[in-house]
Amino acid sequence: MARKLAAGNWKMNGTAASLAEIESLAQAHPNPGCDVLICPPATLLSRLAGATSGSSIKAGGQDCHTAASGAHTGDIAADMIADAGGSHVIVGHSERRADHGETDADISAKAEAVWRAGLTAVICVGETLAEREAGETIAIVAGQLAGSIPEGATGENTVIAYEPVWAIGTGKVPTLEEIGAVHADIRARLKARFAAAGDDMSILYGGSVKPTNADEIFGVADVDGALVGGASLKAEDFGGIIAALERA
Ligand code: PEP
Repeated sequence: MARKLAAGNWKMNGTAASLAEIESLAQAHPNPGCDVLICPPATLLSRLAGATSGSSIKAGGQDCHTAASGAHTGDIAADMIADAGGSHVIVGHSERRADHGETDADISAKAEAVWRAGLTAVICVGETLAEREAGETIAIVAGQLAGSIPEGATGENTVIAYEPVWAIGTGKVPTLEEIGAVHADIRARLKARFAAAGDDMSILYGGSVKPTNADEIFGVADVDGALVGGASLKAEDFGGIIAALERA
């Protein structure tokens, strides 16, 4: 069975003052009925992990290097994320694919680095608007899954996030039928490749999830939670999404 997960991606947002949001969230949801993860900027990871240590809220990284250490100025190794108190690392977010030219092969290598550090990789896939309009969504996502997930993925070490690029930060969301079709296809491919482990991997939807649309999105089959950007920055908004996932 896949676990339910509400994951927040703060992207390049947040300073020490933002930790107050986490303290409020931890107070309001000390023992949530689903897994909760916040991936702040690397500068805050250690402090955020400290602020959540009395709760079951987990902390994670937004990216990592493929190597364990070395001459890679500005990069962060998965072991460093583990050392700072992280449990998960997002890899292959569409902003990394677009801004840093990351390929499926890069993302697969990063996921392996995450596993070597004993952490869970949140592997992101999703089509652009042009690809959706060309009717290529399923083929694009299938290709990204095939290329970005290394052999050996399990429900413990891997979470998949389906994030249509055109839905991220835009307020636009696919229809529930469209979300359901992609999630069903992802589940079928995970099962075909990883057998029983394919049933255990959580598949998150990401792209303009808010407290106001979370209930209906979490009602879609094979949606095991969400990867949330903007609405994860405020405790009240993210708390509303957590509450919706607890109800699902
Ligand atoms: C994201 O960045 O992964 C994301 C889903 O952002 P937003 O929720 O703001 O659309």
